[in-house]
Amino acid sequence: MPIYTAKPYVDEQMCQDVVAVLKSGMITQGQKVEELEEKFASYCGSSYAAALSSGTAGLHAALYVAGIGPGDEVITSPFTFVATFNSILMVGAKPVFVDIDYKTFNIDPEALDKAITSKTKAIIPVHLYGLLANMEKISAIAKKYKLIIIEDACQAHGAEFRGKRAGAFGDFGVFSLYATKNMMSGEGGMVISNNSDYIEKIKSFRHQGQSVHERYKYIGFGYNYRMTDIHAVIGLHSLAKLDEFNLKRQRNADLFNEYLKNVEGLETPVSPDQYRHVYHQYTIKIDINKYGRSRDELVEELVKNDIYPGIFYPKPLHLYDIFANLGYKSGDFPVAEDVSMRVLSLPVHPGVTEDEVKKIVSVICEFKK
Ligand SMILES: *Cc1c(COP(=O)(O)O)cnc(C)c1O
Repeated sequence: MPIYTAKPYVDEQMCQDVVAVLKSGMITQGQKVEELEEKFASYCGSSYAAALSSGTAGLHAALYVAGIGPGDEVITSPFTFVATFNSILMVGAKPVFVDIDYKTFNIDPEALDKAITSKTKAIIPVHLYGLLANMEKISAIAKKYKLIIIEDACQAHGAEFRGKRAGAFGDFGVFSLYATKNMMSGEGGMVISNNSDYIEKIKSFRHQGQSVHERYKYIGFGYNYRMTDIHAVIGLHSLAKLDEFNLKRQRNADLFNEYLKNVEGLETPVSPDQYRHVYHQYTIKIDINKYGRSRDELVEELVKNDIYPGIFYPKPLHLYDIFANLGYKSGDFPVAEDVSMRVLSLPVHPGVTEDEVKKIVSVICEFKK
């Protein structure tokens, strides 16, 4: 059996509930969306939530509602999925990158502090692979310079720092419910906030700028970014399983940590004290000089054995030709550039069994030179 990096979980009850929505006659945004919003906000320890058609739509909506636009700078990580970056372009603002921390893969607070200018309006910390960025330091910096924080928690449903959950630290917390994420609705997104005005404006933005109280009363600009009840029931099932599935991911990560700890040239991911890492990805770094093989050679070997690892991400965003107009060059973010060539994400999702972890580990160990 092939082992993939992701395997969306679908069960019989979920299928029946989807069919029930289809048969109900109410198949667009309705009560199921509302139920999901309430349950998700409560799960995250936040007061309000708005469901959208994707995580990208959520980032776009949060930036728009925060009033970010042309002439403003938004700071984020160059080592993230392109959606984080694209959302900044969507509101016409300027993305500014800062380097990441070598161990956590998340934005380096010291570098962040140095990158702030009079034009900086917001920070989008990304909780990469399921580990929270250093929100203590980032929040202190945001407070000092009066900046908005939009957490990109698209990979971090249920991740915690000192018992507080991802998305609940910033002005906005944005999640993706794409099929391969820790929690999913097929396609979908969620924004949480303790500010009811923000959430009301996001609900208007996702619905062509119409007032949530009155149809055809336009209070702003907007898109069609709605979620459907069909997706929301999938999301409700997935939310009910989130804690159990995150525990399975953690168990698999613990097994990998144990089995790989003495393999020279492989660096396993860290989960610092007081953090709860939810392992959207289990990402190791390969030191070619000590392991004797390159990352790409190891990928080939794993694939030969019917194991399909992932590379997130093969190149930091500032090195893509298409973004050259930002004026960055090779060498600007040495940590992101270094790790992008050496990271490898091993299958860690809840469907991966202990025997499969052992199989992956044995391929890795036998391939070492
Ligand atoms: C998945 C993801 C997104 C985008 O979410 P979509 O639902 O695919 O639009 C944004 N940022 C990060 C870090 C992601 O992993």
